Amino acid sequence: MASDPPADTALTGRKAGGESSPSALTSSAAANGRPVIECIGLSKCYRLALGYEVEALSGLDLEVRTGEIFAIVGPNGSGKTTTIKLLLGLIFPTGGEAYVLGEPPRSRRAKRRIGFVPEGPFFYQHLSGEEVVRFYGRLCGIRGRDLRDRADELLKLVGMSNRRDVVMSQCSKGMVQRVGLAAALVNDPDVVLMDEPTSGLDPIGAKEIKDLIVRLRDAGKTVLLCSHLLEQVEEVCDRIAILHRGRRLAYGPLTEILQVKDETELVAADLPEEATAKLAGLSHRAEMRGGAHRFILKPEAGMFDAIEIVRASGGQLLSVGRIRESLEDAFIRSVMRTATSATEPVSTDAGDSTLPDRPVEQPESGGEPT
Ligand code: ADP
Ligand code: MG
Repeated sequence: MASDPPADTALTGRKAGGESSPSALTSSAAANGRPVIECIGLSKCYRLALGYEVEALSGLDLEVRTGEIFAIVGPNGSGKTTTIKLLLGLIFPTGGEAYVLGEPPRSRRAKRRIGFVPEGPFFYQHLSGEEVVRFYGRLCGIRGRDLRDRADELLKLVGMSNRRDVVMSQCSKGMVQRVGLAAALVNDPDVVLMDEPTSGLDPIGAKEIKDLIVRLRDAGKTVLLCSHLLEQVEEVCDRIAILHRGRRLAYGPLTEILQVKDETELVAADLPEEATAKLAGLSHRAEMRGGAHRFILKPEAGMFDAIEIVRASGGQLLSVGRIRESLEDAFIRSVMRTATSATEPVSTDAGDSTLPDRPVEQPESGGEPT
């Protein structure tokens, strides 16, 4: 990736086939004020042999707005891929409705403006990255010089310019994922759906894909991604829905879903023993992490007193502030709360209001953050 300069003309330039952007479909979806993606009570029940059924998705309500990165997160089997398949019109819902760019998922007009990167994309093993991108370009009706230029731009964008001739059978997972993204962008879509985009990638590969996702958003595209890797989603998305066993447990901007804990963390380095002992006395947790001292101060301990101890000792204050929970914490909290509420009346504590259970969710106008 580092070897290729940014090629965001691939994201913002002319449309495939020479059409100018933005597309008529996006404009109309934006103009009539509709979200780019809408799920209204969307449900899917798979019917199995011997009369068994799997309720893969139960009454999902969500909206994805123009130009945002929206993530559906949840553990394996929570209904994420089912949601994507419904949005692509690959399977039929058993209840509710879905719209993409204001159109039903099976509409060809909508499909022309959607890019899709499946989980672990798989291509003909004898094709090179460039051939794969050109193959998909031809399927989208791009020909000749346009096709060559488009493939060049996209391979540059995903950092595969220098490795365009490597055949799929010799590509790493990260390279295949990048080729998959380039192929998904060949028609210059307005909406990009990605299923588990960083799954199976090493940290550098995952970081590069996350950077690309942000660039897609910065270029005005709307991105919906599904992932079970909560910590990776946390870094890139604007809003999320947490799914668990096909049900939506939480929904909204990440900043609202992740609660700020009533705890102050102080991290310092080069602390003399005496200062370390004093700070430990003010803390209910003290530990070494990455060569630095980390203290979680007792609620009654003064933050400024603790800072003064570091200063007076000649130590280095690295950070101090309230702790925001991780997405994983929020997920576990919402699952636990749902498990409890299945047997008990649902609490309406103000402190829990950002993670309502489905039965007590406010209407979207009230619960839906702006
Ligand atoms: P996720 O992507 O979150 O891992 P999925 O949407 O793939 O979850 O699956 C949700 C549930 O639906 C799981 O219990 C899964 O076993 C079931 N499921 C998915 N596809 C099918 C299918 N084609 N037939 C029967 N059950 C399915
Ligand atoms: Mg899945």
